[in-house]
Amino acid sequence: MAYRITLIPGDGIGPEVVTATQDVVSAAGVAVDWEVHHAGIEVAKLTGSPLPLPVIDAVRKNRVALKGPVTTPIGGGFRSVNVTLRQTLDLYANVRPIRSLPNVEPRFDVDMVIVRENTEGLYAGLELMILPGVAQSIKLTTERSSTRIAEFAFRYAKQHGRSKVTIVHKANIMKLSDGLALDCARRVAVRHPEVHLGEMIVDAAAMTMVRDPNKLGVLVTENLYGDILSDLGAGLVGGLGIVPGANIGDEAAVFEAVHGSAPDIAGKGYANPTALVQSAVMMLRHLGEHEAGDRIERALTEVYRSGQVRTRDLGGTASTGDFTRALCAAIERPRAEA
Ligand code: ATP
Repeated sequence: MAYRITLIPGDGIGPEVVTATQDVVSAAGVAVDWEVHHAGIEVAKLTGSPLPLPVIDAVRKNRVALKGPVTTPIGGGFRSVNVTLRQTLDLYANVRPIRSLPNVEPRFDVDMVIVRENTEGLYAGLELMILPGVAQSIKLTTERSSTRIAEFAFRYAKQHGRSKVTIVHKANIMKLSDGLALDCARRVAVRHPEVHLGEMIVDAAAMTMVRDPNKLGVLVTENLYGDILSDLGAGLVGGLGIVPGANIGDEAAVFEAVHGSAPDIAGKGYANPTALVQSAVMMLRHLGEHEAGDRIERALTEVYRSGQVRTRDLGGTASTGDFTRALCAAIERPRAEA
């Protein structure tokens, strides 16, 4: 039986990395009936909305989606499709494993996970011009969301054999909003005595990620800190071409890379598909397809270890197609030979 999965190709490099990822999933022997839906500026021109209702309904119906990046206009224009999708479907936990691959510079040995609250904070969309020349953004923090994201992080740590969760905050300055999130995490921690709770102010966390990243274990934090620290994490393991992500809610899960649509390299055929491929590995495990996920992960490690096929973001010359073919060949090779 094929899985029915919603596929949002996105724009910029989205369609290129999405096609590569479909090939990789197929090489791993998982049958998928992809239900393709489009979102973004071109769709807005046709329908008046960058994220039409049928797209949201399709994700809700299939419960699982693989998504390429969708460009967000800076300053004016429509609201981010990525943020709207996460908020509408209440995909409250954004999980971003930051893990080194062999042979990729800088050669730190990083293995940490960022769990980012996905629905509130400064992303709540509560902005107003209170006077000409005076703009205000409201940072929204609720007990409900702070508690469930901490609960998610502790459960994730237990399920993945990790002994520590670090809550990252700025409660020394934002005593009410970040103070509330910190209190909620402390209360959740009491229910999980087998997992150690660490606490760290966001600026110190940024430095610790560079100096001793594995000290943090599973890092749980509010929306904007999570966004910024994710890119810092990506930098630690070789860049945005590598790091995967999952947006998880009770109703549905959407798997997408940390990177954006990278308009500077769109259409040129040399985007690195690794981040979305690794997001698909998370998706397969979410579906219970652990063996296929492991096969892809082993093949990815093998391709990076050999060092022969690498994309330009990592100093190589391979196109997206070259890299995908090498990866599919490694997946399909019998294990003894791999
Ligand atoms: P957004 O605001 O949507 O997050 P952004 O401006 O932060 O986007 P990205 O679109 O993620 O940035 O890209 C930043 C840079 O990283 C790009 O200019 C591109 O050179 C590089 N980059 C991102 N993703 C990839 C990839 N998959 N392969 C190769 N290079 C990439």
